Amino acid sequence: MKTSEEHIVLEDKYGAHNYHPLPVVLAKGEGVFLWDVDGKIYYDFLSSYSAVNQGHCHPKIVAALKKQADVLTLTSRAFYNDTLGEYEKYITDYFGFDKVLPMNTGAEAVETALKLCRKWSYQKKGLSADSAKIIVCDGNFHGRTTTIISFSNDPDARNEFGPYTPGFINIPYNDLEALKEVLKDPNIAGFMVEPIQGEAGVFVPDEGYLKAAYDLCSAANILFIADEVQTGIARTGKLLAMDHEDVKPDILILGKAISGGVFPVSAVLANDEVMMCIQPGEHGSTFGGNPLANKVAIAALEVVKEEKLAENSERLGKILRSELANFENDMITLVRGKGLLNAIVIKPKNSKEAWDVCLKLRDNGLLAKPTHGDIIRFAPPLVITEEQLMDCIAIIKKTILSF
Ligand SMILES: *Cc1c(COP(=O)(O)O)cnc(C)c1O
Repeated sequence: MKTSEEHIVLEDKYGAHNYHPLPVVLAKGEGVFLWDVDGKIYYDFLSSYSAVNQGHCHPKIVAALKKQADVLTLTSRAFYNDTLGEYEKYITDYFGFDKVLPMNTGAEAVETALKLCRKWSYQKKGLSADSAKIIVCDGNFHGRTTTIISFSNDPDARNEFGPYTPGFINIPYNDLEALKEVLKDPNIAGFMVEPIQGEAGVFVPDEGYLKAAYDLCSAANILFIADEVQTGIARTGKLLAMDHEDVKPDILILGKAISGGVFPVSAVLANDEVMMCIQPGEHGSTFGGNPLANKVAIAALEVVKEEKLAENSERLGKILRSELANFENDMITLVRGKGLLNAIVIKPKNSKEAWDVCLKLRDNGLLAKPTHGDIIRFAPPLVITEEQLMDCIAIIKKTILSF
């Protein structure tokens, strides 16, 4: 058996260095727990960027995968298959849209939404060819394709990957006046936004922002596109983060936890007015809508309802934030979030930063990852119990006090 160090050396030598992982080598997961190669157990406080909301290796989801794997895995969309229609009916009923377009990764679903929005703007809104612009927010994270990084403000994501795709306008997040101003441009086709900016460090906009933004878009006859790849599937205490303000987007983008982290599955949902703008041959993906994905996604979405994950997330999120907000210490300067999508901001102490806090948390049995230097995201699987959460809070407090 290889040691942790040997695994790390292998990745370092043979893999591209496009990530900077925390030094821990994981070998097993179950529910809220992960085990490293030496058998040490950890609470997972990242949930694979909110992909494993249902917990690691959820038995029902894994069973659906195994059962389908023995029967049929991929047909491509050149033919019909006996799982896709069932899944499409299930997910459109579940979220209340006319139609779904199945893809695999979050970035692909974002690309799909952008293409749909542009198509709609030419066919239904009547914009002249190639004139459509889509509004996005500063601090956004929508994925890693060349088009998506074209409207990122993160220098690491963007620099030296140009030339950039035109047709996007950046405005500040959580700023209705800025949105109102750009909507005066007659060539706007849509506004794409994260209901909470996850990768940016869990920025929660003011209450009412999403509803007011939706109303402005609606009045201007442009599409409101919600990227709920990270906030969706019960993460923020409701099935969708948009549900907090009772807003149904024109285009909904889902990924990550739609499969419970078992398989890459993403989806774009919209009503016929928008979705029927795309015709055969105009968009697709070899693996999109494959039988494994369809069965896994149905099982993963069933688990969310059966185990009341949104309710659990809502209730335990409040406990987590209030415990950390009332905790006397001089390192955690801010606690923010919704449901179980949370972050703390760390003020360095004795030159120890968020990265050092995460290393110490690891030593104490809890895995979290810093983002943008001083922010640590706290987002455990939504199957966590109150007792487990209190255990985690004790680990966090003990760790902070050790500095
Ligand atoms: C993770 C994420 C994506 C990209 O998903 P991938 O599966 O990594 O391509 C897009 N949007 C948001 C909001 C995300 O958090």
